[in-house]
Amino acid sequence: MALLPFDQRDGYIWMNGSLVAWRDAKLHVLSHGLHYASCVFEGERAYGGRIFKSTEHSERFKNSARVLDFEIPYSVAELDAIKQSVVDVNNFTSCYVRPVAWRGSEMMAVAAQNSTINVAVAVWDWPSMFDVEQKMKGIRLDIAEYRRPDPRTAPCAAKAAGLYMICTISKHRAERRGYADAMMLDWEGRVAECTGANIFFTVGGVIHTPIADCFLDGITRRTVIELARRRGIEVIERRIQPEELSGFEECFISGTGAEVTPVSEIGPYSFTPGAISRAMIDDYSAEVQPRQKAA
Ligand code: PMP
Repeated sequence: MALLPFDQRDGYIWMNGSLVAWRDAKLHVLSHGLHYASCVFEGERAYGGRIFKSTEHSERFKNSARVLDFEIPYSVAELDAIKQSVVDVNNFTSCYVRPVAWRGSEMMAVAAQNSTINVAVAVWDWPSMFDVEQKMKGIRLDIAEYRRPDPRTAPCAAKAAGLYMICTISKHRAERRGYADAMMLDWEGRVAECTGANIFFTVGGVIHTPIADCFLDGITRRTVIELARRRGIEVIERRIQPEELSGFEECFISGTGAEVTPVSEIGPYSFTPGAISRAMIDDYSAEVQPRQKAA
């Protein structure tokens, strides 16, 4: 079944201060955000009607904009309330949440000092992959040709639209070659992350993951590290060379969309999804459920 295009759905989108009918949430073709990628966004999930780590996402959203030299004109608390209201008004309990902020139409050249900042929040259905047995087969990853840029050449701490150009190209290439996604190296040729998720490896009961200093430090990544340590599993953040991949036993990726997803293959390297991947899937799915208030 073809997916209903995202501009032809029903419901409500919050845009610049009010809820508008889904199909009316439009921007003009002459928008700085579209032409010059002055656009930042977030990706979040609501579970049981509550957005997981909403405040952390709102903080990262505001910080991404500051990195791009603009200020989102709403506080973290206001953004949290707006996001929750959009989930509620669309009658979703579990869904994906997409805040986006972009420079508008006042100036259409590189400089855009006086542009207005537009903000919108949309939500849509994006089921989690509940079938754990299916998940435990693992996905296959290609190795991308593009590398994560040197922090001196791109604002890599921001979740900025412009940084996804190389991700879309790499993901398309991977899909054409029969893979689910691509693992990207960093500018120095070390393992970095996937096109929309962070990556972890295990050997001898220990988890190894790259240091997030030139790619997005995912909120799911931070959650997984905390959950693993809570279980008493050692987590080492370090530089990982691609040649080391042959020595790891398990591999899994993490992200709001992917949640925790095991990997069976990366190019020539094979992994066997096992007990640690399983534990992280289980711990993450328990963690995202809204907390019951203590009686
Ligand atoms: N890296 C990239 C490039 C991403 O797009 C994402 C998804 N936002 C992640 C990592 C994982 O981030 P998070 O866990 O905050 O969703």
